[in-house]
Amino acid sequence: MSKSHRRKRVLLLGGTREALSIARQLTSLDIYSLAGLGKVPDDLTCTVRVGGFGGAVGLAEFIRAGNIELLLDATHPYAAQISANAADAAQQTQTPYWALRRADWQPQADDDWRDVENWSEIIAALADFKRPFFTLGREPLTHLDEIPPTQHWTIRCLDAEPGNARATVIGARGPFTLDGERDLFATNNFDILISKNSGSVATEPKLQIARARQLPVLILKRPALPLATREFNSSDELIAALHEDSR
Ligand code: NAP
Repeated sequence: MSKSHRRKRVLLLGGTREALSIARQLTSLDIYSLAGLGKVPDDLTCTVRVGGFGGAVGLAEFIRAGNIELLLDATHPYAAQISANAADAAQQTQTPYWALRRADWQPQADDDWRDVENWSEIIAALADFKRPFFTLGREPLTHLDEIPPTQHWTIRCLDAEPGNARATVIGARGPFTLDGERDLFATNNFDILISKNSGSVATEPKLQIARARQLPVLILKRPALPLATREFNSSDELIAALHEDSR
């Protein structure tokens, strides 16, 4: 991004692949913020900060203290708390709030997708299955003691934690390939997939394999997110708008 034009000082809230691609367009004026769960890049021109702000009030203070003029939200669609805080802090400080809102995945004609709203609905929907594959993050790890004797769970999340006699935990970070997912499903003989509707290309191959194997998929409903001043479906659109804004 050209440094020769006056443009707004940006605070970018990240935690996604797209956020990193936006962060690569920022300059030393700007700040890229991460919660601290994943990798922290060390090759960016902008400042990188890590850790929570202390709710909407803390974020508003950070915006004021740092003379932030544009708040960008490129967090994950299921990270509802930080997005709610961002909208609130933007309102408190009268800062424009732009958000990347990924389109969600849509089922195809023969897909057997079943919407679930919460953990108890997931457990009820799994009653007749034996080898579920969880790709929801950490939540299933907190229920390892509740696995019915008829089931063996496979849980894929960022942390490689020990499972138990009825659960295998795979610590892995996307992107995942079609070939890799095909092998994983075949080896483990999963009979149902449990997924968020993240809309990410990096994690979509599991849905293609579930489709090919005619497996049902439990889809955890997306949380409601606040309205932003401007919303974008892709990081490219958002980056183009940033360039436009700096003309
Ligand atoms: P969350 O529930 O919305 O946020 C929990 C708290 O983490 C927030 O209140 C905030 O703490 C802090 N936080 C979150 N994102 C932050 C950021 N970019 N910079 C500084 N603080 C941040 O979020 P989550 O679901 O735990 O996800 C945590 C992070 O992982 C997010 O940045 C998200 O983009 C990323 N992520 C989430 C998922 C998912 O499935 N949820 C998947 C992939 C990546 P304070 O209130 O103290 O400010």
